[in-house]
Amino acid sequence: MPRPISATLSISALDNNLQVVRRHAPHSKVWSVVKANAYGHGIARIWQSLQSTDGFALLDFNEAVLLREAGWQGPILLLEGFFNPGDLKEIDRYRLTTSVHSHWQLAALSTFEASKPVNIYLKINSGMNRLGFHPNEAADVWGQLRAMPQVGEITLMSHFATADSPEGVNWQVDNIEKGTQQIPGPRSLANSAATLWHPQTHHDWVRPGIILYGASPSGSVQDIANTGLKPVMQLRSEIIAVQGLVAGDRVGYSGRYRAEREHRVGVVACGYADGYPRHAPSGTPVRVGGVQTVTLGTVSMDMLAVDLTPCPDAQIGTGVELWGDNLPIDDVAASAGTLGYELLTALAPRVPVIVK
Ligand SMILES: *Cc1c(COP(=O)(O)O)cnc(C)c1O
Repeated sequence: MPRPISATLSISALDNNLQVVRRHAPHSKVWSVVKANAYGHGIARIWQSLQSTDGFALLDFNEAVLLREAGWQGPILLLEGFFNPGDLKEIDRYRLTTSVHSHWQLAALSTFEASKPVNIYLKINSGMNRLGFHPNEAADVWGQLRAMPQVGEITLMSHFATADSPEGVNWQVDNIEKGTQQIPGPRSLANSAATLWHPQTHHDWVRPGIILYGASPSGSVQDIANTGLKPVMQLRSEIIAVQGLVAGDRVGYSGRYRAEREHRVGVVACGYADGYPRHAPSGTPVRVGGVQTVTLGTVSMDMLAVDLTPCPDAQIGTGVELWGDNLPIDDVAASAGTLGYELLTALAPRVPVIVK
């Protein structure tokens, strides 16, 4: 018998979430962001369910090659561009669209002999200060690219730092507009948060990631409650042991949970080596046999403990939902001081995945 943990991926939820994106941005094309192995879901497992997308965006060459070799013929965007000049051969060979964010990349492109023009995403640093050219340089850089015969279509791209918070996007939109008003051609600005909440940023292509997988860009599930988004991943396991505690008994490493009364504790086959956050404190929500309860004590590598007080019927073999349809991953993440993004991308390879 395998260990009873598994992650189930819902194809219909993915499909639904892409439709939600289309409803929010009806006039834009969609880059479905599948970096980090499709936010932990597995590109190979899910890309066909997103085939009605207009393109896939990611940043690892091996993921781009995987998509091409699996049969995807449409656009693929390298969000971080190329990492050394030699990568341009692969970009040409696999017909990838590449972001360009630094001067060395311009130089590399200018001497590259492409078999057909390479489509470029010219990255503007509008305030996040990770990648991109300052808006003041944008027109100059655009001109250099436009003069290169090996360059095809040039799209202006920028990324938002605060699209999920009250600060919003206008401060960055202002920066972009100042430097790029004279530049023709398509634009791509919106991540998930801007796709949902800032329609003025949609332009030609939106770049949603986390919402395709049904989690909240802000970390708060209330913020996506009325969107129709559905979680794609259900992480499930089972109770593999039950302990009857009396007052004073402790549970797990460091004895961090101490019982104040007599009650039962269930031991669940799921730990941090499965991707469950070790920093989730006692009190993190979890569902046992369809009843909401909480974790107790320190999460171990392979196990965690749950309070069975609200679950008198629970016993060895009772099903446990760590996150999924009935328990938003955002709530688990919030308790652990992180985001659904981190939990999804941390799903461990040892967890068997079922695609439904
Ligand atoms: C990851 C990423 C996205 C998608 O972000 P979400 O918040 O998951 O929607 C979009 N654009 C760029 C450049 C990214 O790196």
